[in-house]
Amino acid sequence: MRKDIHSVLKFPQDFLGKTIDLQNCPHSGYFNTSDHRCIECEHSLECEWLKQDVSSLKFKTKPLPILIHHLESAICHIDARLSMQGHDLAVCLCDACKWLRNAENLFQQAAEYNLRH
Ligand SMILES: [Zn+2]
Repeated sequence: MRKDIHSVLKFPQDFLGKTIDLQNCPHSGYFNTSDHRCIECEHSLECEWLKQDVSSLKFKTKPLPILIHHLESAICHIDARLSMQGHDLAVCLCDACKWLRNAENLFQQAAEYNLRH
């Protein structure tokens, strides 16, 4: 279950990384909590999410409820991004929509698994 979540969390990082215009970012996409420019930036949510290193050991050993929370926030980000771009989640065949359907499934399973353990 944890492994599934890890592998699913890689895609949104790549995807969101591409959507941020880093030329105008003073921190090259690394969210800085002490810089008011970051907090006011329209990309603050994406950056805050991106600075998490999902392949690090620290991330891999996080408790399941935290991982589920990360998954949920990734789903929200991608979902918001896709509906802004007019994707029809029920029928669209692009990578992002496929990812979202798969991730929502996994989220359901993980949430149920978490309740039982
Ligand atoms: Zn799509």
